[in-house]
Amino acid sequence: MLFLKKTYTESNSELLSINAAVDLGALLLDGFGDGIWISAPSIALAERCSISFGILQATRTRISKTEYISCPSCGRTLFDLQETTQKIRARTHHLKGIKIGIMGCIVNGPGEMADADYGYVGTGTDKISLYKGQELVKKNIHAQTAVDALIELIQQHGDWVEPPQTV
Ligand code: SF4
Repeated sequence: MLFLKKTYTESNSELLSINAAVDLGALLLDGFGDGIWISAPSIALAERCSISFGILQATRTRISKTEYISCPSCGRTLFDLQETTQKIRARTHHLKGIKIGIMGCIVNGPGEMADADYGYVGTGTDKISLYKGQELVKKNIHAQTAVDALIELIQQHGDWVEPPQTV
């Protein structure tokens, strides 16, 4: 195991995130290293951990949280994509290692989320189809119930875990 360590003097976590991604993320993408150690005395440990896991996930060195693929939406999107994406994130962000595609339309959506584990795709005004991989499993369900249906689909395929309890 090779860990890449770098010490930073930044006191701004956003700047630290950018600089560490450029320095350490680039090396990971080139195949150097198995892990990273961000030393930054001015930034809290929890924040450094969050930045580190983000870099490891982005470089696919270690997948520790849910990934989302979302289209930018356009005139073909006939549901509130931003609000829906937030709802789906809120309910699934604790799942480890799955990829969810959230696409505005059936025309290009399935192709653009080709490697997603689950897909949520608009098919008409407030109509949604759900995919498991590239397979269409629920067609034209109402947007109001579609997020619940997506969670059920994830549960049926054994990829669901309950979110950690907050005290
Ligand atoms: S997937 Fe469909 S809705 Fe989303 S940007 Fe592409 S064409 Fe527009």
